Amino acid sequence: MKVLKFGGTSVGSSKNINNVISILENYGKDDSIACVVSAVGGITDKLLLAGKQAQNKDRDFVKTFQFIKDKHLSIIKELNPDNNSAILEYAEERHNSLKNLLEGIFLINELSPKTSDKLVSYGERLSSFIIAGTMKNRGLSADRKNSQELVITNSNYTKAEVDYSITNQNIKSYFETATQNITILPGFVASSKTGEQTTLGRGGSDFTAAIIAAALNVDQLEIWTDVSGMFTTNPKMVKQAYPIDKISYQEAMELSHFGAKVLYPPTVQPVLSLGIPIHIKNTLEPEAVGTIISNEEIKSSSPVKGISNINNIALLTLEGTGMVGIPGFSKRLFETLLQEKINVIMITQASSEHSICLGIENKDADKAKEAIDVVFENEIALGKIEPIIIESDLSIIALVGDNMKNHQGISGKMFSSLGKNNINIRAIAQGASEKNITAVINEKDVKKALNTLHEQFFEAKTKQLNVFITGVGNVGERLVEQIKQQKKYLKENLKINLRVAGLSNSRTMIFDETGLNLKDWKMQLANGEQASLQGFFENAKALNLRNSIFVDVTANKDIAELYPQYLRESIAIVACNKIACSSELNNYKELKRLSLKYNAPFLFETNVGAGLPVIDTLSNLIASGDKVNSIQAVLSGSLNFVFNNFTNETKFYDIVKQAGVEGYTEPDPRIDLSGVDVARKILILARESGVEMNLEDIENTSFLSEAGLKSDTVDDFYKTLIADEAHYQSLYASAKANNCQLKYVAKFNDGKASVGLQEIPEGHPFYNLEGSDNIVMFYTERYPKQPMIIKGAGAGADVTASGLFADIIRLGND
Ligand code: ADP
Ligand code: ASP
Ligand code: MG
Repeated sequence: MKVLKFGGTSVGSSKNINNVISILENYGKDDSIACVVSAVGGITDKLLLAGKQAQNKDRDFVKTFQFIKDKHLSIIKELNPDNNSAILEYAEERHNSLKNLLEGIFLINELSPKTSDKLVSYGERLSSFIIAGTMKNRGLSADRKNSQELVITNSNYTKAEVDYSITNQNIKSYFETATQNITILPGFVASSKTGEQTTLGRGGSDFTAAIIAAALNVDQLEIWTDVSGMFTTNPKMVKQAYPIDKISYQEAMELSHFGAKVLYPPTVQPVLSLGIPIHIKNTLEPEAVGTIISNEEIKSSSPVKGISNINNIALLTLEGTGMVGIPGFSKRLFETLLQEKINVIMITQASSEHSICLGIENKDADKAKEAIDVVFENEIALGKIEPIIIESDLSIIALVGDNMKNHQGISGKMFSSLGKNNINIRAIAQGASEKNITAVINEKDVKKALNTLHEQFFEAKTKQLNVFITGVGNVGERLVEQIKQQKKYLKENLKINLRVAGLSNSRTMIFDETGLNLKDWKMQLANGEQASLQGFFENAKALNLRNSIFVDVTANKDIAELYPQYLRESIAIVACNKIACSSELNNYKELKRLSLKYNAPFLFETNVGAGLPVIDTLSNLIASGDKVNSIQAVLSGSLNFVFNNFTNETKFYDIVKQAGVEGYTEPDPRIDLSGVDVARKILILARESGVEMNLEDIENTSFLSEAGLKSDTVDDFYKTLIADEAHYQSLYASAKANNCQLKYVAKFNDGKASVGLQEIPEGHPFYNLEGSDNIVMFYTERYPKQPMIIKGAGAGADVTASGLFADIIRLGND
């Protein structure tokens, strides 16, 4: 004998029912079968909805009823195009009776738990009749047995408890004499000793099947559903979840208790003591192996077996000094909840006994508060305890695994990965058996939490990064192209799954929670929604993706001012925008503080030397205990380009223009030529060396002409370059006369910094600097005479983009 159970989706359409019938036919060839079925998918919910509507005097219950009836009738007709009168006649009678019941509820304006059970029972009773009838029509040796005649319970409506001695006897004697090969039974429904209809609780068809399997002591119980087994976590929430081959009864129970809906929690109980394995299979993919739940000792590489969640949780906190050391306090609390039939899902108690925290369903929260406040009225009045605090819209997430107790650091990993992703934990509990660790979080964070934890415990090797790039001009565009090109390499070689979740230029912006397809990103962006700086932030925040990174590829002050908002949401920042790091000292310090506090790295390697590893090297020197004595550097790719190309045969204006065309200068060339850009860079290096300094503290001797310095607009500025050609030629002539090269040099020494144009003599390391190259010389305690030198292309879209890319990868390796 075999016992199989098919769930709502499995019997949710004529196509799926045909699948079920062929599975049964196959099995029935060499064994007899007891097959438990759910109601047609979605019907239980609709029955309850119709009941609620009728109770609320809402005549829409008729529409809902009609939907239920139509659904059943169309399935009957599709399954039995010809010979369907007997089934239709039964269905007609059942639907009439259902309609009468609903009219009755409407009339009396009341829906008691007892009536509710009567109401929902129509679902399973109909589906089992339709399936058995269809099989008989097709000449199979099948019959239907109403489990209400077999499964006997108490009168605890909506979640009745089974009387096993009567039930087991009923089941055994029925099957002893049954002659058909395949018996179809409705799941979920039962009856009380007094003959009233009862049910076993939502999802209870699994339980019915387990009761029958145990009563008949069969070799195996098969639960057929719409997924290929019990997954590492809910596959509808985490794409990367995968089926678990084998799992222990205890683990399966814990996972289902904490929300893995694939198995109704009480299901394990009847089969556990008999050691009957439960096999979970997929009706829509029968060849998939599924999951076996059993006693078997399972060797598994990961101590964590699965992660589950329950939504709609309220946290109830009772605290006060009056609780400490008083015996019977918890007893009174739990008795109160028991009386109100409130199910406690998790409990935590501070070791001081000063507070106790309970996780219950949202729907029970008010009832619980009322009852507890009454029971502890005296203590509250005397100030010994506080009135109860209720927080709702929470979720419980649970890590489950038999083997967790033998491994250290699992909860540490769990909480640090949640913390890193800014997921606030409201309460924590660990089962004494250490088979589960649970945390209560905000419901809005559930998807992110499950994905984070799944990545941490089941995909340890890949890390997903979600970048939001703003400013896809010259450099930004190269960055997106580089990401597109390297995506596969990163995944295969560095185990980084880099996704662009948001893109914006000054006109439009686009987002995709699953990562944008970069194939035609320009077109998608052109058709995006209207861009706004705040809107971009709000979207990144709302998507709430793990390892989010905001990439600022602009030179925009307003964007730099939004960094604190990003950091507060634990969104890391990678910026080539120098404004934030060279802004007022307090602002710079605040950004560093927020970055630490919210565990959100703030990286800006490209602020100095574009893609050259200047800041990273400096940070490593400082972190390893070195001290910077002085820095000498040529830090402006654009100025270097200008003075390397400017001679007595060229015009200063033409060279500056060309530097702009080649993408070396900032959008406003005055920022480069006035030395402000270089001043910002040496300021950043000084700050990163540990010196507190502001931009005004940097001595800046300008080489521009008076008129150039005073010009108000970019156009005016260019005009002065033409008019003052003689001034610039004189700078060149002087250097030439002294056998020197003109270089724009930044210096930091003894806590002071300066920038200015200098004549560099032959033999000096700066003398031969070519094109737009940068050079930085760090003189430190460890490099006192021979400096640490970093040299190379210090400007240009490609190298700047790869510098940004390197910062992003740094976050991936964190
Ligand atoms: P049935 O109607 O067949 O009883 P259910 O809807 O009750 O099916 O249970 C199957 C569903 O359980 C899946 O579709 C999935 O959304 C959900 N689920 C939640 N957690 C898990 C998990 N860990 N593994 C598999 N499914 C899960
Ligand atoms: N039909 C019932 C429900 O939806 C029982 C079940 O499907 O297991 O809860
Ligand atoms: Mg189910």
